Amino acid sequence: MTSIERILEVAREAGRQAALICRAVHAEIPASMDKSDKSPVTIADYGSQAVILRQIQAAFPDHGVISEEGSEHLRESAGEAGAAKIVELVSNVIGAGVDFDQVCSWIDHAGVEGAEYTWAIDPIDGTKGFLRRQQYAIAIGLLRNGVPFAGVMVCPNLPVDLNKPEGQVGVMFAAAKGHGTVSVPIDGGEEARISVSTSENPADWRVLGSVESAHGDPTLVVSMMETIGVGGGFVRYDSQAKYGVVANGNAEIYLRPRSKPDYRECIWDHAAGVIVCEEAGGRVTDVDGKPLDFTLGAKLFENRGVLATCGGVVHDLVVAGLAAAEAQI
Ligand code: AMP
Ligand code: MG
Repeated sequence: MTSIERILEVAREAGRQAALICRAVHAEIPASMDKSDKSPVTIADYGSQAVILRQIQAAFPDHGVISEEGSEHLRESAGEAGAAKIVELVSNVIGAGVDFDQVCSWIDHAGVEGAEYTWAIDPIDGTKGFLRRQQYAIAIGLLRNGVPFAGVMVCPNLPVDLNKPEGQVGVMFAAAKGHGTVSVPIDGGEEARISVSTSENPADWRVLGSVESAHGDPTLVVSMMETIGVGGGFVRYDSQAKYGVVANGNAEIYLRPRSKPDYRECIWDHAAGVIVCEEAGGRVTDVDGKPLDFTLGAKLFENRGVLATCGGVVHDLVVAGLAAAEAQI
């Protein structure tokens, strides 16, 4: 059965379990860990993908899956201790014993190629943010015939109230086509329908971009802001959490210019975030205002960067402002 209710139920449970894995890894690593040691993120990445795809495989065996990780590297590099750690984490979260081969087979689940429904999964989006203990997202997107159809995005470190950054953190966003977007604090709290900002005054518009300068072009973003008089500030977050922050009305613009001419965005970096943003009333295209084309496999081969906004007058103005800013370079 592929009802929207069932899709969201499975994706939400998968996201909940994945967040438990990520937080368990964080709890075990020292706060001041050496940032060059990528092993915690590796363990959390694979564990997260395993529990997500376990759910999807069981519920929707006839769907396709395109995901960021594969077990080949894990098998080569985990070593005995790494393998035992992943098995322990996954067993604890699913409440049943498993072995390493089973975990690897969940990680590699690819389902049916060319199916009507294809999941686009990033088990930890924003790995740098994860290592810094800042923003990261578990992104579970679903495409129907190559169009974003449903998505669950868990942001375990995102403040529930962005005006109170010291308060409760951890938010799950869930959206499905025609059904709107909800957000729910993952440690308990009211589920709420969210919607984008309605501001029409550029002086108030707030802009989001990547923390990593190499993932975009912050100079160009600032130049676009000056060109059209955007005055609400430029805040930089890791991961698809940016889509959630536009969706819940705490920013008007998420701009991701292409970092270099040959870079193509991966679908798992956008599928979940796009539907979360669109169903909250936002608009998402590439930086030229062209619709994102998710039908071409793992990457957005025919798009240049990404622009997500609250829609309305904002989107077209940013596209025009960006073109003008680029022309000046
Ligand atoms: P963000 O946290 O928004 O900067 O995005 C993180 C994602 O950026 C990662 O999941 C990568 O897939 C992706 N990424 C890696 N290299 C680049 C690049 N050169 N340009 C744009 N995105 C990139
Ligand atoms: Mg990613």
